[in-house]
Amino acid sequence: MRKLTILGATGSIGSSTLAVAAQNPDLFEVVALAAGSNSQKMFELCQQWQPKYAAMASESAALELAAMLKQHQIATEVLAGEAGMCHVAALDEVDTVMAAIVGAAGLLPTMAAVKTGKRILLANKEALVMSGQMFIDACREYGAELLPVDSEHNAIFQSLPADVQRQMGYCDLAGAGVSKILLTGSGGPFRYTDVAELAAVTPAMAIAHPNWSMGPKISVDSATMMNKGLEYIEARWLFNAAREQMDVIIHPQSVIHSMVQYKDGSVIAQMGLPDMRTPIACAMAYPERVDAGVAPLDFSQVGEFTFLKPDFNRYPCLKLAMDACYSGQAATTTLNAANEMAVAAFLDHRLGFTDIARINSEVLAQANLTEPTDLAGVLELDRLARIAAQTLIQKVSL
Ligand code: NAD
Ligand code: MG
Repeated sequence: MRKLTILGATGSIGSSTLAVAAQNPDLFEVVALAAGSNSQKMFELCQQWQPKYAAMASESAALELAAMLKQHQIATEVLAGEAGMCHVAALDEVDTVMAAIVGAAGLLPTMAAVKTGKRILLANKEALVMSGQMFIDACREYGAELLPVDSEHNAIFQSLPADVQRQMGYCDLAGAGVSKILLTGSGGPFRYTDVAELAAVTPAMAIAHPNWSMGPKISVDSATMMNKGLEYIEARWLFNAAREQMDVIIHPQSVIHSMVQYKDGSVIAQMGLPDMRTPIACAMAYPERVDAGVAPLDFSQVGEFTFLKPDFNRYPCLKLAMDACYSGQAATTTLNAANEMAVAAFLDHRLGFTDIARINSEVLAQANLTEPTDLAGVLELDRLARIAAQTLIQKVSL
């Protein structure tokens, strides 16, 4: 029986994780849930799952939750703030932590799980983008087992030999005969839109992803392909990959979730319906296979596979992220923070769609990119980039 803490329990990945747990009640026990501010949703999850602990990032949401639980005589203990989230991520009685908080807010809770040697199911790519080598080193030092949940990285993971799967963060791709990791992406809702029309894209248009149902931030990132850029950085760390070992290719059908090319010319791909329950179940049960509740893939329905090269004019954020990847930790942390601010402003109708890339690029250009040496340094870079982004956003605000 695996004992779970789910960070980001009220979100899209959180719901899919709970769906896999519900499908396999003999295999998974939910010990703790954590989320940001939606106390009503958390209350409903507590009614259904009766976890021992529930943590809310927002202090006021924690108070609301505690009152609702008391009124309904549910014994779940409520914790609050970042300390509360770190506490439930580090519980002795928990062996597996789903890291699915969105954005930089997930870094410290996820690190708390790493530092207590848990099995980490990593959906929160921003945490790895921000801390890179520090995150990988901490996993090794504390004996945490890192398993990728992001569908592309989970696909690559599944396409690698078993001994490499057990060396996330420090594997030797070339030694395993791998020549390239082929990171696929759908290209988002605007892959065929005239580039001149992108400035008029609204939040509603951007979050209507053709293939995947996801939270708002990652949906906008998919539309700008910043998501693929963050995933490129994520892949660099997870698979210890060099520049010449990674490529991005657009595959609009989202049936192939990524591929690994070997030096003998073989390409191994992982396929399936675009449903996050598949990679989540794969990571939760690893190395076993469990029912994820996902329908089998019917190739006669899929019809055709197509592929195209990403166009950096259409997707400037992808280029920014790929360049930041080779600039270093300061650049990736800064870009991630600027992007979170720009996406939030776009979703709030304070910024145009194509301004996201402009803000990101400008914040990077202004930033002091001295490499951080510890997590405090990373958090400071994140803070400064947010201030710079905020100032620029106010200037161009609609
Ligand atoms: P979402 O917006 O649906 O859910 C986000 C979760 O994080 C919610 O539970 C929310 O309460 C919590 N949260 C937000 N701010 C918080 C804070 N300050 N402190 C604590 N908790 C906070 O997002 P999602 O789509 O589930 O994505 C979660 C993560 O998984 C992201 O990093 C995303 O990139 C990654 N991911 C998602 C998908 C997907 O299909 N949804 C796929 C791959 C990777
Ligand atoms: Mg992905």
